[in-house]
Order: sequence, then C-alpha cells, then structure tokens
Amino acid sequence: MSTSYEATAEWAQARDAADPLRDFRNEFLIPPHGHSESHYFCGNSLGLQPRASREAVNAELDYWGELGVEGHFKGRLPWMDYHEFVRDHLAEIVGAQPDEVVAMNTLGVNLHLMMVSFYRPTPDRHAILVEAGAFPTDRYAVESQIRYHGFSPTLSLIELEGDEPNGTISMGAIERVLAEHGSRIALVLLPGVQYRTGQAFDLKTITELAHKQGCQVGFDLAHAVGNLPLQLHDSGMDFAIWCSYKYLNGGPGAVGGAFIHARHARTALPRFAGWWGHDKATRFQMGPEFVPTPGADGWQLSNPPILSLAPLRVSLEIFHRAGIQRLREKSLQLTGYLQWLVETQLSDVLEVVTPKEPQRRGAQLSIRVLGGRAQGRALFEYLMDNGIIGDWREPDVIRISPVPLYNRFADCLAFAQAVRRWKRG
Ligand SMILES: *Cc1c(COP(=O)(O)O)cnc(C)c1O
Repeated sequence: MSTSYEATAEWAQARDAADPLRDFRNEFLIPPHGHSESHYFCGNSLGLQPRASREAVNAELDYWGELGVEGHFKGRLPWMDYHEFVRDHLAEIVGAQPDEVVAMNTLGVNLHLMMVSFYRPTPDRHAILVEAGAFPTDRYAVESQIRYHGFSPTLSLIELEGDEPNGTISMGAIERVLAEHGSRIALVLLPGVQYRTGQAFDLKTITELAHKQGCQVGFDLAHAVGNLPLQLHDSGMDFAIWCSYKYLNGGPGAVGGAFIHARHARTALPRFAGWWGHDKATRFQMGPEFVPTPGADGWQLSNPPILSLAPLRVSLEIFHRAGIQRLREKSLQLTGYLQWLVETQLSDVLEVVTPKEPQRRGAQLSIRVLGGRAQGRALFEYLMDNGIIGDWREPDVIRISPVPLYNRFADCLAFAQAVRRWKRG
C-alpha cells in the first residue's frame, strides 16, 4: 500500500488518473461552486445524487400515469415487490443473507421497531448500554423505550464514556463495562462508526462479549453502511439499523434499512405488525390473523414508498458494480492521504480526533481546529465560501469525509491548500 504521499497537484492528479474507480465520479452530480465543482466532503451527511436517480424516479411517475393501480403488477419493476429489487445488493453491501435485510421506513422508526422486539426488560435485566454522546435520535429513542417499559433512565441507561485522549472508546473499556454491568444489561446499542469521532468499532468482538453476558446486541450503522465492508451475519449481532441518505446516496430522507439475524427469522419475539409484514402468499386474503413473512420482511408495516426506493435501487446498483471491498481499498488511501496532509502540512492549525489506525475508522476524519471555537468557525466558513464542503460539530470540530465513489486525491489537496491560505490570511 502506497505511503509515499506528496502535497503537490502533479502527484494528486497522477494518483487520480491511476485510480481504477475514477470513472464512478462521472455517475454523480457534483454540486457546482462558481464556474467549477465544489470539493464535496459531506457524503457522511448527505451523499451525492447519482445521475441515474432522476430517470429512475421519472420511470415510476410514468408508470403511475400510464397504469394507475395496475402499476402494482405491471411495468418493468412492479411496485408490489419493489422492496425486493433492492434486497440482494443491500445484503451484499452489509454482508448478510438476503432474507436478513429489508429496506423500510427510516432509521429512527426502525430503531424503535427493533427495540420492540429486542429490548425486553425484566426487573433484573433492564439496562441499555450506549456510548456517551450518542446521536440524539438514539439517545431519545432508548430513553423513551426505557420509560415506556416503566423503568427510569437514571437506573437503566448506561452511557459508556470515551477513555482515550480524543474521547474515543477502547475495547478494554467495553470489556470492563460489560464485565461489571453485563448481567443487568438487556440491550447493547452501539454505532458501527461513531458520528462525532469517526471511530469504527469491532462489531464481531463486541457482539461476542455482550452475548457472553446474555445481552441482546444491536448496532446503528448510519455512518458505517456504504462506508466499511460489513459482515453482519458472521458478526452475529441480533439486529442493525441504518439510513440510506449518507454514504448510500439514496437521497434526502431515503428509505432506511434493517438487519435481523437469521436465527430470529421465525422468532416468537413480540413485534409491532402491519399488513406488509404478513406472509406474502396469503397477504391478500386479508385475514384477521397476522402470519409474519419469515425473515426481516416480516417486520415491514406498510407498502413501501416507491418514489423513495427508486433512487436507492440505482445507487445500490452502483455499489454493486464498484464493489465495497475495492471502495474500501481506495478509501484507505484517500483518507490516509487526508490524514497525512493534516499531520505533515497543517499541524499548526488542525489535529485529527478520529483514531489513526485505519481499521478503527472509515472515510471520515473528525478534525479539531486548534485555538478554540471562534477560530474553528472562521476556518469552517472560509472553507465553505471556497467550495470546500464539510460539516461543523460543536464546539471545534470539522468533519471531512472523502468518499471513494466520487472524491479525488485532488479534493484532499484542495482542502489542505485552502486551510494554508486561510492561515496565511
Ligand atoms: C444520521 C443518523 C441518524 C438519523 O436518523 P433518521 O431517523 O434517519 O433521521 C440516526 N442515528 C445516527 C447515529 C445517525 O448518524
């Protein structure tokens, strides 16, 4: 793996020209900045639009216009089975069996649905373990579930504090909290990649440690899906949930996803049911008794939003062609370059918060601006004004995510050069 990075335009251009995945960038609309293109580093927040998504949505609008209700059964991709048209590529990206994944709802909704089934508190075992500083939805969701079951977050919510200098969490800290509190933890809910620090977690090891203590385990993969290769089935977790508008490029408010391990496919666990989760073969007999479709499909409530699934379908097809392993290989190089630039060219201004070990992070670097919040805001606004699109996290962190599908080494260099210009004033 090349570590001979250089901070010159010649080097970055040559590196981009030699990139086997370089043509995928042309499949995306890059937001303009003035007369040229912006340097878009916000794929961790809203992934860019694949050019093919407009046509995919228009095709469904056309079928609706031409076929009306018959569009459920006719057309190239009948709506009745539409969620199945994304299933195989979704399974491929997260390392699952096709019947373990379903595209449905949004992340927050799926998190609640999964907790209905997998958070079953008892008087002896009622706690939920999350990381301190978890994403607000996750925190609100677990707190509300704890209260809903008649418990109190004061006693039942365990927040694991970061024990490493930048606020990241060591495996040792996870082992210790599970050893100490495992017997009263009903559910471990941790991120695949933490949204604020960019830390990636070892899902398999955490799952094994938690299962040994008799806890159920779920992961929020909002920042992991489409970013890291995942092996959800083999890692053995009970469930996972994610959104599709970040690295998956499914579009604003895209349909999210859920993974439910095959061992729960025919589970007697309680769930909130809806007609679309009913066994497909007999769904339209409209009987009073709910008979779930085996597997993740059985957690569906409603017939899916076709106009929202259409762009996800084309986006997953791009991932299928690029290959998540090849994307990860490029991502390691690209984010490695960004880190190298920060460390060797910008260490008087910036400091990387995200773990330095490549296996403990994905595409994103969380970068602290030295000198406090006002300096940080000033730099962030300068970058935005100059078409370098990242995002800001209070009090002093800029998140920069080079995405291997559409970012270039030249983008990382442009970021570094802009920071230098700002510093010079
Ligand atoms: C982006 C994100 C969400 C967003 O949830 P929605 O229900 O899609 O709005 C939730 N959790 C984490 C960790 C996220 O990063």
